Amino acid sequence: MAHFISTNEEETLNFAKEMAKSIVAGEVIYLEGDLGSGKTTFARGFCKALGFKGFVHSPSYSLIHHYENAPDIFHLDLYRVNEKAGVEDLGLDYYPLSKGVTLIEWPQGGIQNLLPPNKIIRFENLSEDERLIEIELI
Ligand code: ADP
Ligand code: MG
Repeated sequence: MAHFISTNEEETLNFAKEMAKSIVAGEVIYLEGDLGSGKTTFARGFCKALGFKGFVHSPSYSLIHHYENAPDIFHLDLYRVNEKAGVEDLGLDYYPLSKGVTLIEWPQGGIQNLLPPNKIIRFENLSEDERLIEIELI
């Protein structure tokens, strides 16, 4: 499994930019790791690299954001899925997921059955600014 240590936010944004170069339509990327470990920072760098100019933040309450872009980007954060709704209530059928790329923070609550991952990126807080980042290609 490939891994590296990001020593500041900029490095995580650049890593996301590199990852964005190799995306394939329909791809699903899981972003795992504790709060503050860089999952949303990664999503921000990834979306920017794909040309999305809007605001990217964790869809903690809405559970899913659709960033209209070419390709479309779907950003999920399922941290609250158990208390708010089950993944079956997300209405995923109505999103053109296969045309875009989907990023999922906190992939839990049954999402593995609906949208299995093509890549898993794991973030770990090592210190205030250091993050261990592991990349698993499924
Ligand atoms: P998560 O979505 O995993 O909860 P965020 O990306 O929202 O995490 O927050 C990460 C926080 O950590 C941000 O405040 C960011 O500035 C800070 N940070 C410090 N060092 C890094 C790093 N090397 N990579 C990513 N974020 C970092
Ligand atoms: Mg987040």
